[in-house]
Amino acid sequence: MSDTIVLLGSTGSIGVNTLTIASRYQIPVEALVAGNNLYLLNEQIARYKPKYVAIADQRDRDAVDHPHVFCGEEGILELLEQTQSSTVVNALVGYAGLAPTLKAIELGKRVALANKESLVVAGEFIDMSRITPIDSEHFGLWYLMSERPFSKLYITASGGAFRDWESDAIATATFSDALKHPNWSMGNKITIDSATMTNKIFELLEAKWLFGTDQVDAVIERKSVIHALTQFKDGSTTAHYAGVDMKLPIAFALRGKVEEEILPPLDLLDIGALRFESIESAKYPIWEIKEHILQNPHLGVVINAANEEAIKAFEKGESTFFGMAKTVLDAYRHFDTVHASSIEEIIAIDKEVRNYVNIP
Ligand code: NDP
Repeated sequence: MSDTIVLLGSTGSIGVNTLTIASRYQIPVEALVAGNNLYLLNEQIARYKPKYVAIADQRDRDAVDHPHVFCGEEGILELLEQTQSSTVVNALVGYAGLAPTLKAIELGKRVALANKESLVVAGEFIDMSRITPIDSEHFGLWYLMSERPFSKLYITASGGAFRDWESDAIATATFSDALKHPNWSMGNKITIDSATMTNKIFELLEAKWLFGTDQVDAVIERKSVIHALTQFKDGSTTAHYAGVDMKLPIAFALRGKVEEEILPPLDLLDIGALRFESIESAKYPIWEIKEHILQNPHLGVVINAANEEAIKAFEKGESTFFGMAKTVLDAYRHFDTVHASSIEEIIAIDKEVRNYVNIP
């Protein structure tokens, strides 16, 4: 159970849910870190009275109602050094979350990790014993784990915004079309990653690092009521059912043990029929590298960097939806021999991939 927490990404979708759970259990918030949403950050400061705050941009410092404000990437690391909390909730989005994850671990803290990109990029260099995942699928897998030996782990995918679109319509889809997730309300990046299925590739890598197996796969379950399934060697399969709400994994990540209602139980008759569907590369081109990347998880840094740049281009209207997959797959092939042997090399590869992807 947490004494106090440090919350990175407090103004985001996971951040706001984390504060709801912190309020419910009266867990004090020692520090808040946010990007550009200063209005919400100031509201959070007034309510949670953190000792320290960090923001992305030095120029916004005067707009933050707090005497101890750190700024920029370095500022987040400096803030972490000041804090006493044993738990850091990392709900930053993207590569920006990696350095804080590493710093928190170096400082002996436990990381309640929503920032899956940390594991995708540098899983090989992260001590999993310090990580508690905040991801519904991995929480589901953890919930299903038992002493019995398992043979395969499954996570589910909703199929994202375009699961019912024809390919030629997807080809001309816009950024705002891709943000219309059928089931979940989340930040922009993960919603785009859900539409391309990159999020599920990331989650398979996350599962590989967290559970120490490459016997992981994903299937589409459109209602998002089943988040994970475990197949045991004895032939049994168990499934984790829960509502579409991140407060459940967050409550477990903060409390360790939860014995009261966080979400209303599912109404089984209301769920009706359930169907599992395979994920097809024709619709989700990234899926063609699934097996290869599970065998070569050190290439996560390549797909992450290429993907982040591709999303920026798509948002600016400089890439089509399928253009993003093209960018990522091209970078993946171009850099298929890289293998970082240190975090410094990870940082160098990340830069190199971004430069490569952005060559006009
Ligand atoms: P959001 O985009 O909603 O939130 C991101 C947060 O990070 C915001 O508080 C944002 O600040 C902050 N931030 C971004 N860049 C910086 C920066 N450079 N410095 C400081 N703060 C920064 O994302 P989500 O909450 O949806 O996702 C967060 C992470 O959790 C992602 O890795 C995602 O994959 C993962 N995740 C999310 C789930 C969900 O349901 N949303 C489910 C499972 C995992 P601001 O908004 O103020 O600019």
